[in-house]
Amino acid sequence: MSTIPLEHPYHKELLIATLAVKRASVLTKKLSDSISTTQSSGTETKQDKSPVTIGDYAAQAIINKAISLNFPTDEIVGEEDSDTLRGNTEEAHRLSEKIIAIVNDVQTETASSTDIIGSLKDLPSIYDSIDLGNSQGGSKGRFWALDPIDGTKGFLRGDQFAVCLALIEDGKVILGVIGCPNLPETIESNDKTSGIRGGLYSAVKGIGSFYTPLFADNEFVPLQKQQRISMKQHTSPDSLKVVEGVEKGHSSHSTQSQIKAKLGFEDKTVSLQTINLDSQVKYCVLATGQADIYLRLPISDSYREKIWDHAAGNILVYESGGYVGDIYGNELNFGNGRLLDSKGVVAGNKAVFKSVIGAVKDVLDL
Ligand code: AMP
Ligand code: MG
Repeated sequence: MSTIPLEHPYHKELLIATLAVKRASVLTKKLSDSISTTQSSGTETKQDKSPVTIGDYAAQAIINKAISLNFPTDEIVGEEDSDTLRGNTEEAHRLSEKIIAIVNDVQTETASSTDIIGSLKDLPSIYDSIDLGNSQGGSKGRFWALDPIDGTKGFLRGDQFAVCLALIEDGKVILGVIGCPNLPETIESNDKTSGIRGGLYSAVKGIGSFYTPLFADNEFVPLQKQQRISMKQHTSPDSLKVVEGVEKGHSSHSTQSQIKAKLGFEDKTVSLQTINLDSQVKYCVLATGQADIYLRLPISDSYREKIWDHAAGNILVYESGGYVGDIYGNELNFGNGRLLDSKGVVAGNKAVFKSVIGAVKDVLDL
């Protein structure tokens, strides 16, 4: 196994990204737990979406603050902007009050990081920090891509979601950090999971992919003390596992079934070999070798994927021994602005990727 250099060129970027994602993960986990509690106590009849809205804004404010304090010239492509919050409406005031309260709470809880990633003291600075995420990206220079809560549907169901941050240079992902507050350490199938919940997954170009428990402490754990993760190189259909989304509106489950059949999956076992998860936790499950293939076949011709939905996961898979491409098997281009210019996403371990793309092309008649 190669050794990890103590000081790699992206050491500071990794440190800042990690502390910021951890703080945002503590915050989003609190909100996610509050949803499960209100749901199980039966006090709410209609689903209240405000926890995910509060979490999105608060997490983006925290992470943008950490980046701008340490890398003042770096741009950020973030999913959110503060327009709604700045409005003079009852809803804007209600959300804003909740945001400042939870940001204060979490900054106190993770106070040991404040010297390094700073803190937000009032609503105007929270709004300004959110709006630092307005970069248009592009093919030259470096910028960050942030999804403060990826998998909002999963978040609202009390299932999987992720805090995802990536650094992109000249259109290529250099570093990715994903906080997965609800992800169990081990996933065998949709019904069989075990181990502690909450994982932090990181990758740096040329160095590798790593896992460490997300909530063990609030400090930065050097890569040398994290667990190196890698994909398995399975090829036989009875040993392959596939990760797919939960939402049928985000990818074509029926096309994905046809692709699995083409690859030789058997009807009687295919459901045990398919793991449905919201958000970029799918890439984390691949990177740890618990699944071999990710299928995200488009349901519409016009949809273009957002770069923040795939950037961090992309490098995690490459650095753990896999490939990621579009439906043609071409690498994803993160230098095309805020959106990818390609259709669909297909990932696989290096040994199986070509056959998966072959099956995709057969089924889609490409
Ligand atoms: P997942 O949890 O894998 O279903 O992915 C969640 C992401 O899907 C969200 O962050 C959205 O940006 C994205 N999304 C929304 N609509 C679509 C669509 N029609 N096709 C693909 N992805 C979508
Ligand atoms: Mg997302």
